[in-house]
Amino acid sequence: IVAFRDVQKTYDGESLVVKSLNLDIREGEFLTMLGPSGSGKTTCLMMLAGFETATHGQILLKDREINRIPPERRNIGMVFQSYALFPNMSVRENLAFPLKVRKVPKADIDAKVRRALAMVTMEKFADRMPGQLSGGQQQRIAVARALVFEPSLVLMDEPLGALDKQLREQMQYEIKRIHAQSGLTIVYVTHDQDEAMTMSDRIAVFNNGRIQQLAAPSDLYETPDNAFVGRFIGESN
Ligand code: ATP
Repeated sequence: IVAFRDVQKTYDGESLVVKSLNLDIREGEFLTMLGPSGSGKTTCLMMLAGFETATHGQILLKDREINRIPPERRNIGMVFQSYALFPNMSVRENLAFPLKVRKVPKADIDAKVRRALAMVTMEKFADRMPGQLSGGQQQRIAVARALVFEPSLVLMDEPLGALDKQLREQMQYEIKRIHAQSGLTIVYVTHDQDEAMTMSDRIAVFNNGRIQQLAAPSDLYETPDNAFVGRFIGESN
């Protein structure tokens, strides 16, 4: 569904933060970009979302080159750690807002909002204000907001980073359930090996602007391609 073809990115015209990236993401898979801070994961996600442009190479979405397509026309959903909800709007209004901006007919908005809330089992909270929800519930609403316009692809950048351990594990399970039930393609960024190992179909291990290895979790563990991967996967948090 996505292809990076020899993609490079520099912010300052000199040092490459992404160096010749080649990656095919399959329809319906849960693919995690895993790696230490500064390894280029977020930059890759931003290029896919359309908030950054590649300095070199091509990015294809459903076989279409998307470099010049603006973010709002890519039909990609996004969840970030700090993707705050609008505090002065109810849950329902938070979800309806992106649809109104896209001029979705009023009659369809209600149904789409209800459907997205059902996916995260938060139907009962539609009329609450964000401040009346727990951190985990707010993050569920952020997930629902990413799903509300039925995107073909959902990007998540450290979505659980702000949550405590117990809640994080619960949300990992929730996101896996949504993935299994929806058949969505999810691209997930984290530096947490355990999280990547439990959630992913495949993991792309990043270091220094390059993918060091792309494989299923068990293969990374059993047959790391190089010393970096072995060390990084073996480390615990
Ligand atoms: P983290 O897990 O900390 O988010 P990451 O692997 O996602 O790290 P990136 O955020 O992609 O890494 O950053 C890669 C490199 O690009 C870093 O050295 C960072 O300082 C640099 N960088 C990121 N965004 C910008 C920007 N907008 N302008 C200049 N440099 C940037």
